[in-house]
Amino acid sequence: MSTLSRFLLLLLCLALPLAGWTKTEEQVVSSFTIPNEWVGRVTAHKIIHLPLIPSGGELHGYSISAADTRTLTKAKLIVGINPELEPWLAKWAQANRREKDLLWLYPAPLPSGSHLWTVPAEVKRMITRLKTGLESAGVETSEDALGQILMEIESTERDVRDTFARLQPHERQFVTQHPGLENFAEAFGLKVAGSILACSSAESADPSAKHYADLLKAIRTQKVRVILSDEGQNPAAAQQLAKDAGIKAPTALSFEYLQKPGTPGDTWATMMRLNARKLAEALQQP
Ligand SMILES: [Zn+2]
Repeated sequence: MSTLSRFLLLLLCLALPLAGWTKTEEQVVSSFTIPNEWVGRVTAHKIIHLPLIPSGGELHGYSISAADTRTLTKAKLIVGINPELEPWLAKWAQANRREKDLLWLYPAPLPSGSHLWTVPAEVKRMITRLKTGLESAGVETSEDALGQILMEIESTERDVRDTFARLQPHERQFVTQHPGLENFAEAFGLKVAGSILACSSAESADPSAKHYADLLKAIRTQKVRVILSDEGQNPAAAQQLAKDAGIKAPTALSFEYLQKPGTPGDTWATMMRLNARKLAEALQQP
């Protein structure tokens, strides 16, 4: 082999892994941890995928940082749930002419700010839509992996249903810190009796005096015994409401993000089971 051929062969050997490397550079950026898990689950090969808002971060009222802009600029595909839930992402995509690279998993108008990732039937539809969207963006996905995650969702749904099965009819209602769990409640035979905040985008705002009085009245007349607070958020309003209503201290749940890897609730399935267990326990306690 001539020196030139050897040199060319060497170049080829160097270039091949490099080509492979650039392929894995394809980034899929999701708004938060939950859709990010789904991206990782349905893609066939290891791709770079990350959430903008990390575990523990607040989805509502989020604003994009300079680092986020750099991440989004590099992204091949951007994944969000719904423009009403992530208006900051919709605005960014519009301002930066990246709307064609933004995949909404639930593009239709939302039923009152609902957190549809807590409803198994919706999750199955969103993940199926995600797989199609990834394929259209040139990211390889796996039919087997999709089948597996859809089965996992169904078994999670059965477990959550079983967890709530033992609850009596009068033990099935609760007040939430912010709206969003109505469809979850409906899917599992529960009822949201009211929410402390009028809308989910005003996470830190205090309820008005009238809203507070109405809520207190609803708790008393409907004999509600459980108030939920949002894990990681200030529970002061929820604590005050529980005190004024003369019921037990609020139960902190987190349907808003996955926990840090390696801790309970670090996947959609374990998050759902963990929340269901905590909620069922709270609803059963006097
Ligand atoms: Zn929320």
